[in-house]
Amino acid sequence: MADGNLSVVAVTLVGSHARRGEMKKRFSYRAYPDADQRAMLAKTFGCARVVYNDFVAYCRDSYEKRGVIPDLNEVKSIVTAQAKRTPERQWLAEVSSVPLQEAARDAQSGYRAFFMSIAGTRRGPRVNPPRMKRKSGRQVATFTTRAFTVRADGCSRWGFVRLAKIGEVKFRLSRPLPSCPSTVKVICEPSGEYRVSFVVEVEAACPAAVESVAGVDLGLAHLAIVAGSSGERYRVPNQRNLRSVEHKLAKAQRRLSRKEKGGRNRDKARIGVARLHARVARSRKDQLHNVARRLVDENQVIAVENLDVVALGKTRFAKSIADAGWGILLGLLRSKARESGREVVVIDRWFPSTQMCSQCGRVDGPKPLRIRIWKCECGAVLDRDYNAAVNIMLAAGLAESLNAHGGVVRRVLALADPSELGTHLADARASA
Ligand SMILES: [Zn+2]
Repeated sequence: MADGNLSVVAVTLVGSHARRGEMKKRFSYRAYPDADQRAMLAKTFGCARVVYNDFVAYCRDSYEKRGVIPDLNEVKSIVTAQAKRTPERQWLAEVSSVPLQEAARDAQSGYRAFFMSIAGTRRGPRVNPPRMKRKSGRQVATFTTRAFTVRADGCSRWGFVRLAKIGEVKFRLSRPLPSCPSTVKVICEPSGEYRVSFVVEVEAACPAAVESVAGVDLGLAHLAIVAGSSGERYRVPNQRNLRSVEHKLAKAQRRLSRKEKGGRNRDKARIGVARLHARVARSRKDQLHNVARRLVDENQVIAVENLDVVALGKTRFAKSIADAGWGILLGLLRSKARESGREVVVIDRWFPSTQMCSQCGRVDGPKPLRIRIWKCECGAVLDRDYNAAVNIMLAAGLAESLNAHGGVVRRVLALADPSELGTHLADARASA
Protein backbone atom coordinates (compact mmCIF):
# COMPACT_ATOMS: atom_id res chain seq x y z
CA MET A 1 0.00 0.00 0.00
CA ALA A 2 2.70 2.41 1.02
CA ASP A 3 4.63 1.57 -2.13
CA GLY A 4 1.66 2.58 -4.25
CA ASN A 5 1.55 6.00 -2.64
CA LEU A 6 5.22 6.52 -3.02
CA SER A 7 5.61 5.72 -6.68
CA VAL A 8 4.55 9.24 -7.69
CA VAL A 9 7.49 10.88 -5.99
CA ALA A 10 10.07 12.33 -8.32
CA VAL A 11 13.38 10.53 -8.15
CA THR A 12 16.69 11.87 -9.35
CA LEU A 13 19.46 9.40 -9.91
CA VAL A 14 22.92 10.60 -9.16
CA GLY A 15 26.12 8.68 -9.53
CA SER A 16 24.58 5.87 -11.56
CA HIS A 17 26.77 6.81 -14.50
CA ALA A 18 29.90 6.19 -12.46
CA ARG A 19 32.96 6.37 -14.66
CA ARG A 20 35.21 3.36 -14.65
CA GLY A 21 38.96 3.34 -15.09
CA GLU A 22 40.77 6.64 -14.57
CA MET A 23 39.36 9.38 -12.41
CA LYS A 24 40.57 12.69 -11.05
CA LYS A 25 41.11 13.16 -7.35
CA ARG A 26 42.47 15.94 -5.15
CA PHE A 27 45.33 15.47 -2.73
CA SER A 28 45.90 18.31 -0.29
CA TYR A 29 48.86 18.95 1.98
CA ARG A 30 49.92 21.59 4.45
CA ALA A 31 52.74 23.66 2.91
CA TYR A 32 55.52 25.66 4.54
CA PRO A 33 56.96 28.29 2.16
CA ASP A 34 59.91 30.31 3.50
CA ALA A 35 59.83 34.11 3.84
CA ASP A 36 61.04 34.84 0.28
CA GLN A 37 58.60 32.36 -1.16
CA ARG A 38 55.75 33.81 0.88
CA ALA A 39 56.55 37.25 -0.48
CA MET A 40 56.62 35.96 -4.05
CA LEU A 41 53.45 33.96 -3.49
CA ALA A 42 51.72 37.05 -2.11
CA LYS A 43 52.66 38.86 -5.31
CA THR A 44 51.38 35.96 -7.43
CA PHE A 45 48.09 35.78 -5.50
CA GLY A 46 47.69 39.54 -5.93
CA CYS A 47 48.34 39.44 -9.69
CA ALA A 48 46.00 36.45 -10.17
CA ARG A 49 43.30 38.31 -8.24
CA VAL A 50 43.79 41.45 -10.35
CA VAL A 51 43.47 39.43 -13.56
CA TYR A 52 40.33 37.74 -12.25
CA ASN A 53 38.80 41.03 -11.12
CA ASP A 54 39.74 42.76 -14.39
CA PHE A 55 37.94 39.98 -16.22
CA VAL A 56 34.85 40.47 -14.07
CA ALA A 57 35.00 44.26 -14.42
CA TYR A 58 35.28 44.04 -18.20
CA CYS A 59 32.32 41.68 -18.49
CA ARG A 60 30.20 43.75 -16.10
CA ASP A 61 30.94 46.87 -18.03
CA SER A 62 30.14 45.23 -21.31
CA TYR A 63 27.01 43.37 -20.25
CA GLU A 64 25.45 45.57 -17.57
CA LYS A 65 26.21 48.95 -19.08
CA ARG A 66 26.06 48.23 -22.80
CA GLY A 67 24.04 45.01 -22.88
CA VAL A 68 26.68 43.28 -24.97
CA ILE A 69 27.83 39.72 -24.27
CA PRO A 70 31.59 39.92 -24.79
CA ASP A 71 33.78 37.39 -26.59
CA LEU A 72 35.23 35.63 -23.55
CA ASN A 73 38.39 34.44 -25.30
CA GLU A 74 39.10 38.00 -26.27
CA VAL A 75 38.50 39.23 -22.71
CA LYS A 76 40.96 36.62 -21.52
CA SER A 77 43.63 37.94 -23.85
CA ILE A 78 42.85 41.55 -22.87
CA VAL A 79 43.29 40.96 -19.13
CA THR A 80 46.45 38.82 -19.46
CA ALA A 81 48.79 39.17 -22.47
CA GLN A 82 47.56 42.60 -23.59
CA ALA A 83 47.39 44.02 -20.05
CA LYS A 84 51.08 43.25 -19.48
CA ARG A 85 51.97 45.66 -22.27
CA THR A 86 50.13 48.56 -20.62
CA PRO A 87 51.90 50.79 -18.08
CA GLU A 88 49.13 50.24 -15.46
CA ARG A 89 49.47 46.48 -15.53
CA GLN A 90 53.07 45.87 -16.63
CA TRP A 91 53.92 44.45 -13.19
CA LEU A 92 51.87 41.39 -14.09
CA ALA A 93 55.00 40.24 -15.98
CA GLU A 94 56.87 39.89 -12.68
CA VAL A 95 55.10 36.64 -11.77
CA SER A 96 54.60 33.37 -13.63
CA SER A 97 52.07 33.77 -16.43
CA VAL A 98 50.50 30.37 -15.72
CA PRO A 99 48.52 31.34 -12.57
CA LEU A 100 47.31 34.44 -14.41
CA GLN A 101 46.08 32.35 -17.33
CA GLU A 102 44.38 30.01 -14.88
CA ALA A 103 42.72 32.89 -13.00
CA ALA A 104 41.38 34.24 -16.31
CA ARG A 105 40.22 30.75 -17.28
CA ASP A 106 38.42 30.49 -13.94
CA ALA A 107 36.55 33.77 -14.48
CA GLN A 108 35.88 32.73 -18.07
CA SER A 109 34.15 29.50 -17.10
CA GLY A 110 32.13 31.38 -14.47
CA TYR A 111 30.91 33.83 -17.11
CA ARG A 112 30.33 31.10 -19.68
CA ALA A 113 28.01 29.37 -17.20
CA PHE A 114 26.28 32.67 -16.42
CA PHE A 115 25.70 33.63 -20.06
CA MET A 116 24.50 30.13 -20.93
CA SER A 117 22.19 30.27 -17.93
CA ILE A 118 20.54 33.53 -19.00
CA ALA A 119 20.31 32.28 -22.60
CA GLY A 120 18.54 29.16 -21.31
CA THR A 121 21.08 26.78 -22.84
CA ARG A 122 22.28 25.52 -19.47
CA ARG A 123 20.37 23.07 -17.31
CA GLY A 124 19.90 23.43 -13.59
CA PRO A 125 19.24 26.44 -11.39
CA ARG A 126 20.03 29.99 -12.47
CA VAL A 127 23.74 30.80 -12.19
CA ASN A 128 24.99 34.09 -10.79
CA PRO A 129 27.85 35.92 -12.47
CA PRO A 130 31.29 35.64 -10.80
CA ARG A 131 31.98 38.19 -8.10
CA MET A 132 35.12 40.22 -7.48
CA LYS A 133 37.67 38.55 -5.23
CA ARG A 134 38.78 40.32 -2.11
CA LYS A 135 42.24 40.66 -0.67
CA SER A 136 41.14 39.50 2.76
CA GLY A 137 39.71 36.22 1.55
CA ARG A 138 41.27 32.92 0.63
CA GLN A 139 44.15 33.40 -1.80
CA VAL A 140 44.68 30.93 -4.63
CA ALA A 141 47.18 30.46 -7.44
CA THR A 142 46.92 27.54 -9.86
CA PHE A 143 49.90 26.04 -11.69
CA THR A 144 49.66 23.53 -14.53
CA THR A 145 52.28 20.94 -15.48
CA ARG A 146 54.38 23.38 -17.51
CA ALA A 147 54.90 25.52 -14.39
CA PHE A 148 55.66 23.01 -11.66
CA THR A 149 57.43 19.77 -10.79
CA VAL A 150 57.01 17.71 -7.67
CA ARG A 151 59.30 15.32 -5.82
CA ALA A 152 59.16 13.36 -2.58
CA ASP A 153 62.20 13.08 -0.36
CA GLY A 154 62.89 9.35 -0.08
CA CYS A 155 61.62 8.07 3.23
CA SER A 156 61.18 11.45 4.94
CA ARG A 157 57.73 12.90 5.38
CA TRP A 158 58.39 15.95 3.22
CA GLY A 159 57.47 16.61 -0.36
CA PHE A 160 58.74 19.45 -2.55
CA VAL A 161 56.98 21.29 -5.30
CA ARG A 162 59.03 23.54 -7.57
CA LEU A 163 56.86 26.42 -8.78
CA ALA A 164 57.79 28.71 -11.68
CA LYS A 165 59.39 31.96 -10.44
CA ILE A 166 58.85 30.94 -6.80
CA GLY A 167 61.17 28.01 -6.18
CA GLU A 168 60.90 24.78 -4.28
CA VAL A 169 58.20 24.89 -1.59
CA LYS A 170 58.13 22.11 0.97
CA PHE A 171 54.97 20.43 2.15
CA ARG A 172 54.09 17.76 4.70
CA LEU A 173 53.61 14.54 2.74
CA SER A 174 50.90 13.09 4.99
CA ARG A 175 50.03 10.42 2.42
CA PRO A 176 51.83 9.49 -0.81
CA LEU A 177 50.88 10.98 -4.15
CA PRO A 178 49.73 8.02 -6.30
CA SER A 179 50.95 9.47 -9.60
CA CYS A 180 52.12 12.62 -11.34
CA PRO A 181 49.67 15.48 -10.71
CA SER A 182 48.31 17.57 -13.60
CA THR A 183 47.73 20.79 -11.67
CA VAL A 184 48.49 22.23 -8.27
CA LYS A 185 46.63 24.96 -6.41
CA VAL A 186 48.64 26.89 -3.85
CA ILE A 187 46.24 28.22 -1.23
CA CYS A 188 46.69 30.70 1.58
CA GLU A 189 43.83 30.64 4.04
CA PRO A 190 42.76 33.79 5.89
CA SER A 191 44.29 32.14 8.98
CA GLY A 192 47.71 32.35 7.31
CA GLU A 193 47.99 28.60 6.67
CA TYR A 194 49.33 27.45 3.33
CA ARG A 195 48.23 24.35 1.47
CA VAL A 196 49.08 22.73 -1.83
CA SER A 197 46.29 20.82 -3.51
CA PHE A 198 47.20 18.49 -6.39
CA VAL A 199 44.89 17.01 -9.00
CA VAL A 200 45.88 13.42 -9.70
CA GLU A 201 44.52 10.76 -12.03
CA VAL A 202 43.86 7.60 -10.06
CA GLU A 203 42.66 4.16 -11.01
CA ALA A 204 39.04 3.91 -9.93
CA ALA A 205 38.94 1.10 -7.43
CA CYS A 206 35.64 -0.70 -7.65
CA PRO A 207 34.87 -2.53 -4.42
CA ALA A 208 32.52 -5.51 -4.47
CA ALA A 209 28.84 -4.62 -4.39
CA VAL A 210 27.04 -4.93 -1.04
CA GLU A 211 23.40 -5.80 -0.44
CA SER A 212 22.40 -3.18 2.06
CA VAL A 213 20.73 0.08 1.10
CA ALA A 214 20.16 3.04 3.41
CA GLY A 215 17.77 5.91 3.91
CA VAL A 216 19.26 9.05 5.43
CA ASP A 217 17.25 11.79 7.07
CA LEU A 218 19.17 15.00 7.57
CA GLY A 219 18.13 16.81 10.70
CA LEU A 220 18.82 19.72 12.98
CA ALA A 221 18.99 17.90 16.30
CA HIS A 222 21.15 15.27 14.61
CA LEU A 223 23.35 15.64 11.58
CA ALA A 224 21.92 12.46 10.06
CA ILE A 225 19.54 9.64 10.95
CA VAL A 226 20.43 6.44 9.13
CA ALA A 227 18.24 3.39 8.57
CA GLY A 228 19.76 0.48 6.67
CA SER A 229 17.97 -2.45 5.02
CA SER A 230 20.25 -4.78 6.99
CA GLY A 231 18.24 -3.77 10.05
CA GLU A 232 20.86 -1.44 11.43
CA ARG A 233 19.91 2.11 12.39
CA TYR A 234 21.86 4.91 14.04
CA ARG A 235 21.91 8.63 14.67
CA VAL A 236 24.93 10.76 13.88
CA PRO A 237 25.03 13.51 16.47
CA ASN A 238 25.63 17.02 15.26
CA GLN A 239 28.93 18.09 16.72
CA ARG A 240 27.78 21.68 16.78
CA ASN A 241 31.35 22.61 16.22
CA LEU A 242 30.69 26.23 15.77
CA ARG A 243 28.55 26.41 18.88
CA SER A 244 31.27 25.11 21.14
CA VAL A 245 33.79 27.70 20.04
CA GLU A 246 31.13 30.33 19.50
CA HIS A 247 31.88 31.97 22.81
CA LYS A 248 35.58 32.20 22.02
CA LEU A 249 34.78 33.42 18.57
CA ALA A 250 32.46 36.13 19.84
CA LYS A 251 35.20 37.35 22.14
CA ALA A 252 37.77 37.35 19.37
CA GLN A 253 35.34 39.18 17.11
CA ARG A 254 34.73 41.85 19.73
CA ARG A 255 38.45 42.25 20.16
CA LEU A 256 38.78 42.66 16.41
CA SER A 257 36.07 45.31 16.19
CA ARG A 258 37.79 47.43 18.83
CA LYS A 259 41.08 47.56 16.92
CA GLU A 260 41.79 50.50 14.70
CA LYS A 261 41.51 49.91 10.98
CA GLY A 262 44.76 49.40 9.15
CA GLY A 263 46.77 48.80 12.32
CA ARG A 264 49.04 45.86 13.07
CA ASN A 265 46.92 44.82 16.03
CA ARG A 266 43.87 44.63 13.85
CA ASP A 267 45.72 42.24 11.56
CA LYS A 268 46.64 40.08 14.53
CA ALA A 269 43.06 40.03 15.79
CA ARG A 270 41.77 39.21 12.31
CA ILE A 271 44.15 36.24 12.07
CA GLY A 272 42.96 35.09 15.50
CA VAL A 273 39.36 35.01 14.28
CA ALA A 274 40.36 33.27 11.06
CA ARG A 275 42.28 30.60 13.01
CA LEU A 276 39.22 29.80 15.11
CA HIS A 277 37.12 29.51 11.97
CA ALA A 278 39.76 27.26 10.41
CA ARG A 279 39.75 24.99 13.44
CA VAL A 280 35.99 24.61 13.29
CA ALA A 281 36.07 23.96 9.56
CA ARG A 282 38.73 21.27 9.92
CA SER A 283 36.93 19.22 12.54
CA ARG A 284 33.62 19.60 10.73
CA LYS A 285 35.18 18.39 7.48
CA ASP A 286 36.67 15.47 9.32
CA GLN A 287 33.32 14.41 10.73
CA LEU A 288 31.53 14.79 7.39
CA HIS A 289 34.19 12.68 5.64
CA ASN A 290 33.77 9.94 8.23
CA VAL A 291 29.99 9.92 7.99
CA ALA A 292 30.07 9.80 4.18
CA ARG A 293 32.77 7.10 4.18
CA ARG A 294 30.77 4.81 6.46
CA LEU A 295 27.56 5.25 4.46
CA VAL A 296 29.31 4.51 1.16
CA ASP A 297 31.27 1.55 2.53
CA GLU A 298 28.23 -0.12 4.05
CA ASN A 299 25.58 0.53 1.39
CA GLN A 300 25.08 -0.03 -2.31
CA VAL A 301 22.44 2.67 -2.61
CA ILE A 302 22.05 5.68 -0.32
CA ALA A 303 18.80 7.63 -0.41
CA VAL A 304 18.87 11.24 0.83
CA GLU A 305 16.26 13.93 0.95
CA ASN A 306 17.04 16.90 -1.23
CA LEU A 307 16.95 19.75 1.27
CA ASP A 308 16.90 23.21 -0.17
CA VAL A 309 20.01 24.26 1.68
CA VAL A 310 20.07 27.70 0.08
CA ALA A 311 16.47 28.51 1.03
CA LEU A 312 16.81 27.06 4.52
CA GLY A 313 19.97 29.07 5.03
CA LYS A 314 17.90 32.23 5.00
CA THR A 315 15.71 31.18 7.92
CA ARG A 316 16.58 31.45 11.59
CA PHE A 317 17.98 27.95 11.49
CA ALA A 318 20.72 29.29 9.24
CA LYS A 319 23.46 28.91 11.79
CA SER A 320 22.64 25.34 12.69
CA ILE A 321 22.48 24.45 9.02
CA ALA A 322 25.78 26.07 8.20
CA ASP A 323 27.05 24.17 11.21
CA ALA A 324 25.72 20.84 10.05
CA GLY A 325 27.10 21.20 6.55
CA TRP A 326 24.43 19.18 4.79
CA GLY A 327 25.40 20.51 1.40
CA ILE A 328 29.00 19.44 1.95
CA LEU A 329 27.86 16.03 3.16
CA LEU A 330 25.80 15.48 0.03
CA GLY A 331 28.76 16.49 -2.13
CA LEU A 332 31.05 14.10 -0.27
CA LEU A 333 28.53 11.28 -0.55
CA ARG A 334 28.28 11.79 -4.29
CA SER A 335 32.00 11.86 -4.91
CA LYS A 336 32.75 8.88 -2.68
CA ALA A 337 29.86 6.93 -4.22
CA ARG A 338 31.17 7.67 -7.70
CA GLU A 339 34.61 6.40 -6.70
CA SER A 340 33.26 3.19 -5.21
CA GLY A 341 30.61 2.38 -7.81
CA ARG A 342 27.79 3.07 -5.35
CA GLU A 343 24.68 5.10 -5.96
CA VAL A 344 23.19 8.18 -4.31
CA VAL A 345 19.47 8.76 -4.86
CA VAL A 346 18.15 12.20 -4.03
CA ILE A 347 14.41 12.39 -3.44
CA ASP A 348 12.13 15.38 -3.74
CA ARG A 349 12.25 17.62 -0.69
CA TRP A 350 8.49 18.20 -0.69
CA PHE A 351 7.88 14.57 0.04
CA PRO A 352 6.23 14.34 3.51
CA SER A 353 8.78 11.98 5.03
CA THR A 354 8.01 12.97 8.61
CA GLN A 355 4.22 12.88 8.24
CA MET A 356 3.74 9.49 6.71
CA CYS A 357 3.54 6.16 8.50
CA SER A 358 6.16 3.94 6.89
CA GLN A 359 4.14 0.83 7.82
CA CYS A 360 0.73 1.58 6.31
CA GLY A 361 1.35 4.67 4.18
CA ARG A 362 -1.14 6.88 5.98
CA VAL A 363 -0.28 10.59 5.91
CA ASP A 364 -0.99 12.00 9.34
CA GLY A 365 -0.38 15.74 8.91
CA PRO A 366 2.48 17.91 10.10
CA LYS A 367 4.03 17.31 13.50
CA PRO A 368 5.75 19.86 15.67
CA LEU A 369 9.48 19.24 16.15
CA ARG A 370 9.08 18.25 19.79
CA ILE A 371 7.00 15.19 18.89
CA ARG A 372 9.65 12.49 18.73
CA ILE A 373 7.30 9.49 18.87
CA TRP A 374 3.80 9.11 17.47
CA LYS A 375 1.23 6.39 17.14
CA CYS A 376 -0.38 5.74 13.77
CA GLU A 377 -3.99 4.53 13.45
CA CYS A 378 -2.62 1.22 12.20
CA GLY A 379 -1.15 0.68 15.66
CA ALA A 380 2.50 1.31 14.85
CA VAL A 381 4.35 3.40 17.41
CA LEU A 382 6.89 5.26 15.32
CA ASP A 383 10.15 6.99 15.98
CA ARG A 384 9.83 10.27 14.11
CA ASP A 385 13.38 10.27 12.70
CA TYR A 386 13.78 6.59 11.82
CA ASN A 387 10.29 6.52 10.32
CA ALA A 388 11.35 9.42 8.08
CA ALA A 389 14.55 7.60 7.09
CA VAL A 390 12.54 4.50 6.11
CA ASN A 391 10.14 6.67 4.10
CA ILE A 392 13.07 8.20 2.25
CA MET A 393 14.25 4.69 1.38
CA LEU A 394 10.78 3.80 0.13
CA ALA A 395 10.49 7.02 -1.86
CA ALA A 396 13.76 6.19 -3.55
CA GLY A 397 12.23 2.96 -4.83
CA LEU A 398 14.14 0.72 -2.47
CA ALA A 399 11.08 -1.10 -1.10
CA GLU A 400 12.29 -4.40 -2.51
CA SER A 401 15.43 -4.33 -0.41
CA LEU A 402 13.27 -3.78 2.64
CA ASN A 403 10.79 -6.48 1.73
CA ALA A 404 13.57 -9.02 1.19
CA HIS A 405 13.27 -9.91 4.85
CA GLY A 406 9.51 -10.35 4.79
CA GLY A 407 8.65 -6.84 5.91
CA VAL A 408 10.21 -7.40 9.32
CA VAL A 409 13.03 -4.99 8.68
CA ARG A 410 10.68 -2.16 7.87
CA ARG A 411 9.03 -2.55 11.27
CA VAL A 412 12.30 -2.96 13.13
CA LEU A 413 13.70 0.19 11.59
CA ALA A 414 10.81 2.57 12.04
CA LEU A 415 9.38 1.63 15.42
CA ALA A 416 10.14 3.60 18.52
CA ASP A 417 12.65 2.24 20.98
CA PRO A 418 10.61 0.75 23.89
CA SER A 419 12.88 2.44 26.43
CA GLU A 420 11.81 5.85 25.15
CA LEU A 421 8.11 5.10 25.02
CA GLY A 422 7.20 6.11 28.55
CA THR A 423 8.48 9.65 28.31
CA HIS A 424 7.45 10.59 24.80
CA LEU A 425 4.20 8.83 24.08
CA ALA A 426 2.34 10.64 26.83
CA ASP A 427 3.53 13.89 25.34
CA ALA A 428 2.42 12.83 21.88
CA ARG A 429 -1.06 11.83 23.18
CA ALA A 430 -1.44 15.07 25.04
CA SER A 431 -0.89 17.08 21.91
CA ALA A 432 -3.03 14.86 19.69
ZN1 LIG B 1 0.37 3.31 10.04
